[in-house]
Amino acid sequence: MSNAADLEKRYGAGNYAPLPVTIVRGEGIHLWDHEGRRYIDMLGAYSAVSFGHCHPRLIRALTEQAGRLDILSRVYSSDRLGPFLARACELTGMDRALPMNTGAEAVETAIKAARKWAYTVKGVADDQAEIIAATGNFHGRTIAIIGLSTVAEYRDGFGPFPPGLVLVPFGDAAALEAAITPNTAAFLVEPIQGEGGIVVPPAGYFTDVERICRAHDVLLICDEVQTGLGRTGKMLAIEHEGITPDGVTLGKALGGGLVPVSMFLATDEVMGVFNPGDHGSTYGGNPIAAAVGLAALDLLVEDKLVARAARLGAHLLARLRALDSPAIREVRGRGLFAGIEFHQDAVSAPEVVEALMRAGILTKETHRNTVRMAPPFIIEKNEIDEAVDLLAEVLDDITATALAPSAPH
Ligand code: PMP
Repeated sequence: MSNAADLEKRYGAGNYAPLPVTIVRGEGIHLWDHEGRRYIDMLGAYSAVSFGHCHPRLIRALTEQAGRLDILSRVYSSDRLGPFLARACELTGMDRALPMNTGAEAVETAIKAARKWAYTVKGVADDQAEIIAATGNFHGRTIAIIGLSTVAEYRDGFGPFPPGLVLVPFGDAAALEAAITPNTAAFLVEPIQGEGGIVVPPAGYFTDVERICRAHDVLLICDEVQTGLGRTGKMLAIEHEGITPDGVTLGKALGGGLVPVSMFLATDEVMGVFNPGDHGSTYGGNPIAAAVGLAALDLLVEDKLVARAARLGAHLLARLRALDSPAIREVRGRGLFAGIEFHQDAVSAPEVVEALMRAGILTKETHRNTVRMAPPFIIEKNEIDEAVDLLAEVLDDITATALAPSAPH
């Protein structure tokens, strides 16, 4: 272990258990450790590094802006924020955008907007608004958001949680309809559950969800913090379903892998609930965030990275689905967003992650004994092949060891 990792362990809070590797440099799809060893980054910082590490154009946007104007707070307008918000709305088909920093803050903003919309537009009685979310979700780590979580690890010891939070099984539209009451403000849902294990809902689910939400005057809010901005091969993952939500959250890749930038985007009607002073963030929408965010959106469009994610993602998923390993239970995903689930009794996902790390591939397990792959969009086909070939070797090794006859007594 490196000295830096020792210090992190000694002085850190212990809320993460990092893999035994200390990264000192990143470029493109590669990361280097403190001993100079190179890895392919197949995790992409949980979808935050869509453009690759330290992309020169984004670095330029960051450093030029940092040298010109840093942070103002929103007390004054900057010459950067308006163009950034306009571009984000144009690319997502939303009317207005509210910038924050982290994904969780964007989701909190969405929840606040939905509640206030319920009181001021829908006519729900004070303090009665309900937000419905799906089991297995991940929307962040704030108290309200973990109040919606079904994962004990995220919730235990952190209660009490706010009232008005309701859960329905992911992928079950009838259950959503049954859970709606006159007080329901919104259904908050990931188009594909990321942390939950790269869970793709059944075909037609979102068509039903949209119809149900419209019929009951319930907002449909898609959390695209992880799936948005091309990750699944469309600008928004919900575009695959051909429907338009009332609100969308973005984060992660919006900051180009350089700075935390998130936003809640919505229709005029929903965003119209906010008035001066009722919501905000000191760093939200600051000139550096706006400059980097705008450069990230421009890069996505000009380098045709969404189409690239679709094309290379199809290759990644086809290669993974063709793997002939008895350890694999299922391969799920869309675009450059893939989950490989293993049979519980065959291998454990953390074991595969460690073995891949030793083989030069960085990934991370997630729920349902699944290893996630979400590499930068600039990855090449041969690099995907290299990662998948190494995964095949690692699985062969692990299963061969597990199945080897034990030594005679
Ligand atoms: N929503 C989704 C769908 C996410 O995947 C995440 C992070 N994994 C978040 C929200 C929270 O983002 P952050 O960690 O930036 O708060």
